[in-house]
Amino acid sequence: MALKILNAQMILECPCSLRDSATQAVPGEGSATADIMFIGEAPGKNEDLQGVPFVGAAGKFLNEMLATIGLQREDIYITNIVKYRPPENRDPLPKEIAACMPWLHEQIRIIQPKIIVTLGRHAMEHFIPGKKISEVHGQAFRRNFPDIGPQVFFALYHPAAALYNGGMRQTLIEDFKKIPAVIKKLGS
Ligand code: URA
Repeated sequence: MALKILNAQMILECPCSLRDSATQAVPGEGSATADIMFIGEAPGKNEDLQGVPFVGAAGKFLNEMLATIGLQREDIYITNIVKYRPPENRDPLPKEIAACMPWLHEQIRIIQPKIIVTLGRHAMEHFIPGKKISEVHGQAFRRNFPDIGPQVFFALYHPAAALYNGGMRQTLIEDFKKIPAVIKKLGS
């Protein structure tokens, strides 16, 4: 309920300037009590039209990887660092990321996942700053944010970047399979 209220409120109030060019907000999808939260970069064309994150080719690939660890989309929560599609799918600007960030932090505070999986370097950079994704993919980091509290972040390559790159695709699949073991270790 709290998550639905937050998303409804932020659809009205988010100050991100990308609102002007986007069709609609893409707040996020999935379980409000999920153990795993996935955070991507920004909605693309299909997401903008449907109002749902990761519904295009990258989303299909993500669904396949979820299935390899016995999960479905309903079991997780998935969203992006910016909630509106940037024009022509360009990278989100720092001011756009900053404008949408309180919304994301509040989503995390409500969901309280066991692990947050960042997809791609933009999502990683906010939560695990100063690292190179080529060096830290497939690794977990503990970080503490004043408004969220201590959290575990797990860095992955972005499924869209890995989709048509054989080597990166294989690395992403292998990194993805580590998620259950990381969660198990957290509980012990
Ligand atoms: N890529 C993203 O980062 N997010 C989406 O929602 C879709 C594609």
